[in-house]
Amino acid sequence: MSEAEGSIDEGRRDFIRDLIRDDLATGRHNSIVTRFPPEPNGYLHIGHAKSICLNFGIAEEFGGRCHLRFDDTNPAKEEQEYIDAIQEDVRWLGFDWGENLFFASDYFAQLYDWAEHLIGQEMAYVDHLSADEIRQYRGTLTEPGRNSPYRDRSVDENLDFFRRMHAGEFAEGECVLRAKIDMKSGNINLRDPVLYRILHASHHRTGDTWHIYPTYDFAHGQEDAIERVTHSLCTLEFADHRPLYDWLIDNLPVPARPRQYEFSRLNLSHTVVSKRKLMQLVEQGHVEGWDDPRMPTLSGLRRRGVPPAAIRDFVGRLAITKSEGVVEIALFEHCIRELLNKTAQRRMAVLRPLKIIIDNYPEGRSEELEAINNPEDASFGTRQISFGREIYIERDDFMEDPPKKFFRLAPGREVRLRYAYYITCQEVIKDKAGKVVELHCTYDPATRGGTSPDRRKVKGTLHWVSASKGLPAEVRLYNHLFTDVEPGAGDDFRDSLNPQSLEVLKNAWVEPSVSDGAIGDVMQFERLGYFCRDRDSGPDKLIFNRTVALRDTWAKIQAKEKSKS
Ligand code: ATP
Ligand code: MG
Repeated sequence: MSEAEGSIDEGRRDFIRDLIRDDLATGRHNSIVTRFPPEPNGYLHIGHAKSICLNFGIAEEFGGRCHLRFDDTNPAKEEQEYIDAIQEDVRWLGFDWGENLFFASDYFAQLYDWAEHLIGQEMAYVDHLSADEIRQYRGTLTEPGRNSPYRDRSVDENLDFFRRMHAGEFAEGECVLRAKIDMKSGNINLRDPVLYRILHASHHRTGDTWHIYPTYDFAHGQEDAIERVTHSLCTLEFADHRPLYDWLIDNLPVPARPRQYEFSRLNLSHTVVSKRKLMQLVEQGHVEGWDDPRMPTLSGLRRRGVPPAAIRDFVGRLAITKSEGVVEIALFEHCIRELLNKTAQRRMAVLRPLKIIIDNYPEGRSEELEAINNPEDASFGTRQISFGREIYIERDDFMEDPPKKFFRLAPGREVRLRYAYYITCQEVIKDKAGKVVELHCTYDPATRGGTSPDRRKVKGTLHWVSASKGLPAEVRLYNHLFTDVEPGAGDDFRDSLNPQSLEVLKNAWVEPSVSDGAIGDVMQFERLGYFCRDRDSGPDKLIFNRTVALRDTWAKIQAKEKSKS
């Protein structure tokens, strides 16, 4: 868990920020430019949030700017839907790229010219080997590669072939443009990497103009240079590509010299953070869509009720280092709870109702009682809640034959109803199958508000909802999407999908004031957790998503660690 230490405050220190401070101090750079470069082939997830907060955060802290650049170099997998969703998610997370919105596809003409430049310098050639042959010729980590028979063609011949590739004269896979570097290099990325491939696909922005598309390697550094990005921050898997990044920058007439730095990606327990895997969950119907509240996507988290500030707090606590690790999802949930505890209104709801009839409470009467909206913050004020002869309590809060440590309601026992009265259970009504269906209780009118004048103590305080004034609701309880800590460590990540990741409760009751909230507003249902109104709600149908339960497993993990040391 060493990944998860660090501070949330300004003046953050990590190797990247230290490097930037140094670059500014020595005058290597006068201002800092970073970028967040998503490929529009899926929705953003919590892993991307780490990169977004790092890149935009650094720009803010050092008075620089951060570009949002769509790395749209693969027309086969990209769509406008993703571009729109990504922009919405970055904004929602709290960042603003201002005028600095860019698309790799805007640079296609420039990149093409630079490819011809490399050919002219005898640093690139058109190869007719098939993809399989290229793989065979590439060698392995222990064996050097072999030169392609097409490697030593003349500049003119290469230019001619490349122009015909561009003109659409060849089929996909018939030829590629490769850099001419070193087939014996210890770094496989330098063994004549492919720079352009033929794709007869329509691009969402450039239409059918192009028949060839640059690879990530050929595009990325040059895009950084065009935009005068100073620090190109990416995840560790690109470390081995850095020599190629530098080789291209060194050998092309680019207007600036960006540098790439790598940091470890965020891996989160009990979930997957890979667009490819998330796409499978969506396409195979394991979840209801990219914004299913069980998904670690930003849109899923938003729908679940997670505030963007909690995500920023969470990723701000992650160390920016070069060591990979898995962060406990419990830490993320802890951050969500910590924020919502301060910001969420309290309400009462009963998820699995058990009816109580208070026999000595006058029939037809009801009264208003005062309830506190947030015990952490008096400025939230109070509200009125209706009490009457019939109420619902949580089925779990009653046991006919309670074990020793059960302090809630049981036959003959007295408990407090929050903000209301003390009640005593007098009679248990069961159906034919022996299931408890309702309870008859009596109340003590002297305990109004929940305190007794004779200072009689009760051990349990229960939440409740008035049966006549409460509103019916559906409540969706979400649990971890995967049962394994690291899904996919085995054969298939889908093997550990949690069959209980969603539990729908159709007979819940909520106090009427919860219907005042807008879609997405998060409230604490007392003793249960934080909930937000789902967009599936209609005028006559209230639906709530559980954002997070109240039980803080992270605090427990911490306490355990402490007691060990
Ligand atoms: P995925 O593996 O989910 O497909 P990706 O890296 O292919 O992710 P991109 O759209 O290329 O997705 O990502 C944009 C930026 O976000 C990149 O700079 C990438 O390094 C960063 N990023 C992606 N996943 C993570 C992660 N788990 N932690 C930190 N940064 C990430
Ligand atoms: Mg990528």
